[in-house]
Amino acid sequence: MAGGARLLEGGPIADEIRTAVAEDVASFTASNGRPPGLAVVIVGRDAPSTVYLERILRGCAKVGIHAEFVELEGEATEASVVATIRDLNADPTVDGVIVQMPLPRTIRLRSVVDAIDPAKDIDGIHPLNAGLLRLGYDGFLPATAHAAVEILRRSGIEIEGRRAVVVGRSAVVGMPAAFLLVRENATVTVCHSRTRDLQHHLKDAEIVVVAAGQPGLITGSMLRRGAVVVDVGINVVDGKVVGDVDFESASKVASAITPVPGGVGPLTNAMLISHLVRAAEAQQAQARPLSEPVVGGS
Ligand code: NAD
Repeated sequence: MAGGARLLEGGPIADEIRTAVAEDVASFTASNGRPPGLAVVIVGRDAPSTVYLERILRGCAKVGIHAEFVELEGEATEASVVATIRDLNADPTVDGVIVQMPLPRTIRLRSVVDAIDPAKDIDGIHPLNAGLLRLGYDGFLPATAHAAVEILRRSGIEIEGRRAVVVGRSAVVGMPAAFLLVRENATVTVCHSRTRDLQHHLKDAEIVVVAAGQPGLITGSMLRRGAVVVDVGINVVDGKVVGDVDFESASKVASAITPVPGGVGPLTNAMLISHLVRAAEAQQAQARPLSEPVVGGS
């Protein structure tokens, strides 16, 4: 409990997911003679995201996944990043590809995203996977948005029929989180930087997911008593990692709240690893010849 609110911690859920994933990795490795493989394309050693990516590599190693950085030599150009991704798409030992973000300003995001094979797009950034989510089909989900909703599901929070507000409309977090909540049958409002009177939307929200990148944006006085709050924000203020929600005041009003750090963050890493194993299994199944020859036409 925190200030009256139940603390929704990501760590124990992430451990549960990793234990299940380790079993899947072991059986994949036994039947294919190699572990699932992840390639992380590094486009310039930008400190904050490199730390995040190194954590993913360590998480993979722990469960037996082969993961490595593919670093572009010298000054990376759009053509060299795209060519590297195409090589990884063609490599049968690579099951998943992620690219370090943000990209240098000289490289167009769309060109890089479009180059990733949707079957290896384990962070759900390719338009095909975004479209599948939008239409309610199974595809790869952006790991952070998936983690934000999974923490609710696995903590036994009822989503169906509830009023949810998502603060943030980015393609990687806010919008996919909103679509996932709709898929879980919540009634969802998406707020963003141009929303007039954020508090008006929040005052009736039973579930609040915040992904705005604004430290302390949401305070307890803006929330409905008993709201469930998922704070996706990761901000560094005076050398400390804080979320987008003012934890101190919000935890006095909320019925449940994710801490930062220790909430959505640890789960994001575990979701990504579970997506990788799913990608590996799906690609192997696709590559396997049919046991029965298909005869006849049409
Ligand atoms: P982004 O900058 O792409 O999007 C931010 C969104 O918030 C925008 O849609 C914007 O309209 C909205 N917004 C900004 N200020 C607002 C305001 N005052 N009121 C209402 N809406 C406002 O950021 P992002 O990539 O979606 O990331 C959001 C946050 O989540 C960041 O803090 C980021 O560090 C964090 N993040 C966390 C994880 C994780 O694993 N927990 C992963 C990725 C990103």
